[in-house]
Order: sequence, then structure tokens, then C-alpha cells
Amino acid sequence: MAQWCETCDRPVEGDVCEVCGNEVHEEVREPMPWMWRFFIVSSVIYLGWRLYQLISWLSHRRF
Ligand SMILES: [Zn+2]
Repeated sequence: MAQWCETCDRPVEGDVCEVCGNEVHEEVREPMPWMWRFFIVSSVIYLGWRLYQLISWLSHRRF
């Protein structure tokens, strides 16, 4: 299993990064937390809904 150099942001084969020379520690690279995904998705949906409302309001209002 390849390890990850946090400094270079690249996978490293072995214990020492061949680019920066830092020792890499065995760490599980955490994926983006699901709360963040949920927040982003709900923001997009909310903004889309508000945009739809705005367009609907603009097209239906009387001048
Ligand atoms: Zn490195």
C-alpha cells in the first residue's frame, strides 16, 4: 500500500519521500466528510430553488 506525503501531496513508495526527503507516516487519507458534501449539495439545491423562484416571480409579476 502506497503512503502519502502531506508536503508534496503525492503518493510515496516506501518510508521516505523521494521528492522532499520527509519521512512519511502511515496515515489514512480521510475523504471529504459527508457533512461537507451534504452542505454543498443542499446549498446548490437551495440556490437553484431560489433562482427558480426569482425567475418565476419575474415572469409572472405585473408591470
Ligand atoms: Zn514529499
